[in-house]
Amino acid sequence: MVALIAISILSCKEKSETNFEEESDELAVVVPDVYEFGFNLNDFTVKRDTVRKGDSFGVILERNKIGYPQIFQIAEKAKDTFNIRNLQIGKPYTLLCSKDSLEIPKCFIYQPNQEEFVVISFQDSIHAYTSRKPIKYVEKTVTGIVTSSISEILDKQGISPILTNMLAEQIYAWTIDFTRLQKGDTFKVIYTDKYIDDTIYAGVHNVKAAFFNHKDTPHYAFRYQTDSIKNIHEYYNEAAKDLRRAFLKSPIQFNFRISSRYNLNRRIAYYGFALRPHKGTDFAAAVGTPILATANGTVTESQHKGGNGNYVKIRHNATYETQYLHMQKRKVKVGDRVKQGDVIGWVGMTGNTGGPHVCYRFWKNGQQVDPLKEKFSQSEPIAESLKGDYLEFIKPIKEKLDGLPILEDSNKEEEKNLISQNN
Ligand SMILES: [Zn+2]
Repeated sequence: MVALIAISILSCKEKSETNFEEESDELAVVVPDVYEFGFNLNDFTVKRDTVRKGDSFGVILERNKIGYPQIFQIAEKAKDTFNIRNLQIGKPYTLLCSKDSLEIPKCFIYQPNQEEFVVISFQDSIHAYTSRKPIKYVEKTVTGIVTSSISEILDKQGISPILTNMLAEQIYAWTIDFTRLQKGDTFKVIYTDKYIDDTIYAGVHNVKAAFFNHKDTPHYAFRYQTDSIKNIHEYYNEAAKDLRRAFLKSPIQFNFRISSRYNLNRRIAYYGFALRPHKGTDFAAAVGTPILATANGTVTESQHKGGNGNYVKIRHNATYETQYLHMQKRKVKVGDRVKQGDVIGWVGMTGNTGGPHVCYRFWKNGQQVDPLKEKFSQSEPIAESLKGDYLEFIKPIKEKLDGLPILEDSNKEEEKNLISQNN
């Protein structure tokens, strides 16, 4: 950023009022007001630094000529707003000091993150408050033809990889396999970038709408608020169908009971109460009961191995995998594409098991988690009462999307609309 400096000739009268010390008729530099944190920085000597190892609120202020009795007083008065012990190493702070040669601190401003700042003012009386920097959202568009991976294409246009993740993992996770995009597939995206204080880029805020033509099949996605109180947004297609699919709650449809839950602190008497974490959920059922794939996916493992016995593993998308152990018999092989509810094998007691059950294991980004505690998308079709509103809502957005020309090169700068400020 280039600082603006206005130069004007001051008359003698103005000069006396503004207390300049220069001789008359000389050019005086008038520095325009620069506001930050709600203060005119020109009124102060501004000292910026980051919290370092060994720093505390007291150490910083003492280093800047404030005595301990006053430091205690400030800390005590500020404590309802900000606990001074919460200063974190590496976070920036600013001291606004008197403009005279003494440079006595008048105000301590701490930034726990890019958006928030804590002001502890001790100019006259002591007071403290937390505030936010103004945030601006800018709507942008990007279009393209798939020639390499989507992240490479977006990267070439200087677009954050967050956008690829949003498209692949949130919006199209269940409808398009981003690892199998084909040359010639086309896409258009309307998304919002977030800026703090007008200048600091804070990443992609959200995707408003997207279109993929994948294998000559159009896939629209529109972001829509389904619950204004809880602020819940979902993505639906042009016919108001939901794009995401939830997992089946269990890999067995009828006549089962959960005999052991996911439990990292499980201790087993048989092993002398040694810690034996259980990273699966056991569904006990009769030998021969069908085991169902809990979501669409591709079989990545299908074999008999050690304690697992006969087992099958399925990759559902970039985020999720599931595994089913101790099968009597497997019905699928590696590479098979399965649909939610497809039978992939039958309950048995192969491998390390005391009774017939399927041990169901669930991976999220390579980590085993408890599927009963995962918060999945509600993934319900849009409520009938909202459908009309939804279709009206997407009309102009779809028109805009349809009207976007597909460019191989950057058209990122083509369209920039300010949609909201200070939001
Ligand atoms: Zn188990």
